[in-house]
Amino acid sequence: MGGLRLRLDKDVLKCEYCGMPLTEHNVYTREIGGKTHYFCCEHCADAYEAKSR
Ligand SMILES: [Zn+2]
Repeated sequence: MGGLRLRLDKDVLKCEYCGMPLTEHNVYTREIGGKTHYFCCEHCADAYEAKSR
């Protein structure tokens, strides 16, 4: 729903799994446990989700 609202000029966003810096072009978001998490790719989102279970 809606577009991504990222304040990339203020916040340095990193993949929450591997730590890769994210830009508006490579960011992958997933809602896990009711919160939005940011990753570099689907693979990292899957790995993070599996780890947090
Ligand atoms: Zn990653």
